[in-house]
Amino acid sequence: LGGKMSNSFTRSEALLLRARAVIPGGVSSGNRANWTPFPLYYARGDGARVWDVDGNEYIDYVLGRGPLILGHGEPDVTDAIYHQLKVSQFFAGQIEGEIELAELICSLVKNVEMVRFCNSGSEAIHACIRLARSATGREKVIRFIGHYHGWYDGIAWGFSGVSAKPDAPPLPLPMSLGQPSSDAANIVAVEWNDPEAVANAFKNCRGEIAAIITEPIMFNGFWSNIQPIEGFLTFLREQCDANGALLVFDEVQTGFRVSLGGAVEHFGVAADLSAFAKALSGGVCLAAFAGRRELMKRLVETNTVHTGTYNAYPPAVMGALRHLTLLAVNAGAKLQRIHHHAALLERGLRDLASHTQLPLLVRSSPGAVTTAFRVAPTQVIDHRSAAEGLDLGLQRAWHLALQDQGIRITPEGLWYMSAAHSANDIATTLDAAQDALQSLSSR
Ligand code: PMP
Repeated sequence: LGGKMSNSFTRSEALLLRARAVIPGGVSSGNRANWTPFPLYYARGDGARVWDVDGNEYIDYVLGRGPLILGHGEPDVTDAIYHQLKVSQFFAGQIEGEIELAELICSLVKNVEMVRFCNSGSEAIHACIRLARSATGREKVIRFIGHYHGWYDGIAWGFSGVSAKPDAPPLPLPMSLGQPSSDAANIVAVEWNDPEAVANAFKNCRGEIAAIITEPIMFNGFWSNIQPIEGFLTFLREQCDANGALLVFDEVQTGFRVSLGGAVEHFGVAADLSAFAKALSGGVCLAAFAGRRELMKRLVETNTVHTGTYNAYPPAVMGALRHLTLLAVNAGAKLQRIHHHAALLERGLRDLASHTQLPLLVRSSPGAVTTAFRVAPTQVIDHRSAAEGLDLGLQRAWHLALQDQGIRITPEGLWYMSAAHSANDIATTLDAAQDALQSLSSR
């Protein structure tokens, strides 16, 4: 696999071998182990570029898997972080910037009236689900097969199992060994974009569903940039209202990327609770969950617990505040540039796809593009159809060939765009992608 490889990775390889003795797989996040030809080590990032420890330079579309929407090392953001570090790292008390950041989020995202900060998307989702259960007094959650909501036990379910009855939802399967099987009782897993499955789930579990949790755009693994079918999110909203359940949007990917107001603004569908992380913080460890006042106030008015030593870590808060302010300034001029450049990239990749015999498929959302290799006539609308005919060997070879050309995308084929990418970078990228495709064709 992978064809010729001209880049040298000797230093990365030596570090990885050393790491593997003390860090399982040499990586601190399981998905980093999927990198081709093996997990690399990096030395530096600047704007749209990164350099690995062997001195290879890349135009970076991984961007920390989404957070670095302004690019690597945006000086205003790093200054804000340094300044706070110098003043004081940490009080286990409040700083004013926390209020400003919450106010900014409330002003940008419709229906968000209150915000709490935490450290990761997984934590934010965990808190949303706890709040939804607290508010409804119910335990079951409808989630969609193939959506990712973090790695925590209670929600990392949703791979399709066999249904007990033809009209019953599939039994959810856990993502990992080590998850308590008892958690499955609280998960109702259905295919995305299947309104009938959602309606049946409510029928089968009458009065038991606390919430539907959904990525407003399917954005993870090999199933990225899969859009909701027309009216689907509105249908979820209506089903929740009709059944006394809450609608939770996992906006870890879509928040502040598809629109300044996230998926809520992009699709015009309001959530009750939302989780934000990646593009919220611009590369510092900060995430948030947010929602209607009456729900969020349960964190102080009832025994609904949310705590954390590092919550709202001041350097992260000040970095995120500067970052989000920059993104929002001039009615989101930077975000418009990002969308424009992502559309340029998408158009160029589609053009390449139309001139190759390889089954290259291009999908997109504002600010992010997906490339997949798939031989199947059906439209991609959910996990099942996305998986059908997917050529993971080609996907891997494409990742490697692009990397060899100095283009860095995720192994699953996701390309995030940043404000630091220029039209020139995109032209260079498309030339490189053409060469990469050619090398795949002649394998
Ligand atoms: N939800 C979604 C939609 C995500 O994409 C991710 C991360 N890729 C998470 C939750 C988990 O976020 P984190 O990795 O910050 O825990």
